[in-house]
Amino acid sequence: MEIERHQYDVVVIGAGGAGLRAAIEARQQGKKTAIVCKSLFGKAHTVMAEGGAAAAMGNVNPDDNWQVHFRDTMRGGKFLNNWRMAELHAKEAPDRVWELEAWGALFDRTKDGKISQRNFGGHEYPRLAHVGDRTGLEMIRTLQQRVVALQQEDYKIHGDHEAYIKVFAECTITRLLKDGDAISGAFGYWRENGSLIVFDAPAVVLATGGIGKSYVVTSNSWEYTGDGHALALLAGAKLINMEFIQFHPTGMVWPPSVRGILVTESVRGDGGVLRNSEGKRFMFDYIPEVFKDKYATTEEEADRWYTDQANNRRPPELLPRDEVARAINAEVKAGRGSPQGGVFLDVSTRLPAEEIRKRLPSMHHQFKELADVDITAEPMQVGPTCHYIMGGVEVDADTGAACVPGLFAAGEVSGGMHGSNRLGGNSLSDLLVFGRRAGAGAAAYVDGLTSRPKVHDAAVREAQAEALAPLERSGENPYEVHHELQRTMNDLVGIIRKAEEITEALEVVEKLKERAKGVGAAGTRIYNPGWHLALDLRNMLLVSECVAKAALMREESRGGHTRDDYPQMSAEWRRKLLVCSSSPDGSNVTVEERPQPSMREDLLTLFDRGELSKYLTEEELAEYDAAVA
Ligand code: FAD
Repeated sequence: MEIERHQYDVVVIGAGGAGLRAAIEARQQGKKTAIVCKSLFGKAHTVMAEGGAAAAMGNVNPDDNWQVHFRDTMRGGKFLNNWRMAELHAKEAPDRVWELEAWGALFDRTKDGKISQRNFGGHEYPRLAHVGDRTGLEMIRTLQQRVVALQQEDYKIHGDHEAYIKVFAECTITRLLKDGDAISGAFGYWRENGSLIVFDAPAVVLATGGIGKSYVVTSNSWEYTGDGHALALLAGAKLINMEFIQFHPTGMVWPPSVRGILVTESVRGDGGVLRNSEGKRFMFDYIPEVFKDKYATTEEEADRWYTDQANNRRPPELLPRDEVARAINAEVKAGRGSPQGGVFLDVSTRLPAEEIRKRLPSMHHQFKELADVDITAEPMQVGPTCHYIMGGVEVDADTGAACVPGLFAAGEVSGGMHGSNRLGGNSLSDLLVFGRRAGAGAAAYVDGLTSRPKVHDAAVREAQAEALAPLERSGENPYEVHHELQRTMNDLVGIIRKAEEITEALEVVEKLKERAKGVGAAGTRIYNPGWHLALDLRNMLLVSECVAKAALMREESRGGHTRDDYPQMSAEWRRKLLVCSSSPDGSNVTVEERPQPSMREDLLTLFDRGELSKYLTEEELAEYDAAVA
């Protein structure tokens, strides 16, 4: 069968917020750009985002600015963040949100007509620009509209809408192609009919999102199989921070068919409180030492904060997600959970029914339809769910470039920005800031090339053989391997981890890797989900191995990595990044320690010494003292 071939300057893999923003930028820089996505165009995780995009616009509280946002982000990530990314993100997020409005987005407004901003965990001031609880939908709609506007411009000039930007939907990339060290293209297949496709392109931007489908209980949908992470790793790039997985504190726990579906943090941002089976508002018992001075210690103060933020501290329900998820886990383990194994989240006694329906329309609909619960009249039952991976492709903060020439990454597939824990709302703004930067980085890279890397026939033949192999054997059912992987990761490398369990998980993953080599897919190439899963398995197993190996190595608890056997945060470990590499066939995944670069002096001095002493080593504090002296 002949393989379809296309030539582009930049191929963007992924059509969520990061991919679309990168593609728009590459096209605006004059590059012929392809957008490839394995789902339908418009169906990406970004569209599911509810709460909003964090940007220090200062519309609701004029004291907000990039420095406060930067500090919150670093605190949320427990100081393991790539500080340059956190700086660029905090500085550029407002412009990226305003730009969306210029392209047609319509955010909710304040009374005086500015973009409204809502409270979210870990953000000192109301900061999330939002559209009810359907912000991601508006973001994707607007970015798609921008793509169409650019296509209309191209039509006027070239007589072809797709002359400079074209979407390849329901098309899955399975391998990146290289010429020597450099990227030369990508190989994939059409999901609908199974025919094969090669993109010949010197620059590839990965924007494939996360890895949640390696876990049983997750807020993520079927596309999140860690493809971009694995594609990068197999092409020679590095993954960092893979041990840090965010378990969102509030997923639905019942009925079983919807377990894991997200309950937006906006419920707590808008006043919802968490209670255990004894009716106790338990979060007051879980305020960690490092946050003691920032959170209310009584219900009265916490409640006053909603109307007077200047004179009161925040309610502890709005602690960063890792803290809230661990607290819920502990309450359930102590036998104080709800009947279905979660805790109660109640907004019905906190806001009038009409207000709940207005502010949280999707949540109201979701609980009514899926669980027959009316959230305006009764509490929800919620528990932690695998939601987001902080780890990903190691990139240059300014350009999104990975260490492989021609490879770029942005959005959830990239690592560093969020450190050990992401603050809610910081992903949507991350997609816009770093999507734009990666698109510009890829365009600049193409401009700087003196010759175009070639796609070699041998590499295409290898990719083809790998892709078709599951169809050519009658092996084990891929769903069985997938199911065992999901259970293993959930039970042994989940929210609380310890060495024996992680070691056991690694043994299982090793065996599953062997079994995956023999899985077979019955049927033809035409819309064959068994075949698609057989190919996705390679990616999920690789990323799971990275997560488990890094989790075993990091002997401390920080953000989205909690070790039962090392329950404290360690200043020494904060200075270390764990970096995963692999052989091109994925058989040999290694993890190495690398020193975390020291924060630039002007950023370091944005914090006071008392706070830094909770995270930094004595040696680093001495550097701080020298800087302020
Ligand atoms: P996505 O939007 O997931 O896009 C990934 C794209 O890659 C898709 O188009 C997919 O088809 C494609 N793809 C994947 N693999 C391949 C492949 N092999 N070949 C071709 N294409 C491929 N964050 C916030 O900041 N605020 C919120 O309010 C918020 N709410 C959320 C609610 C839910 C329910 C969820 C699940 C997440 C939420 N998040 C939120 C997180 C945020 O939505 C995601 O982190 C973010 O949207 C990821 O965007 P992305 O562009 O990196 O990837």
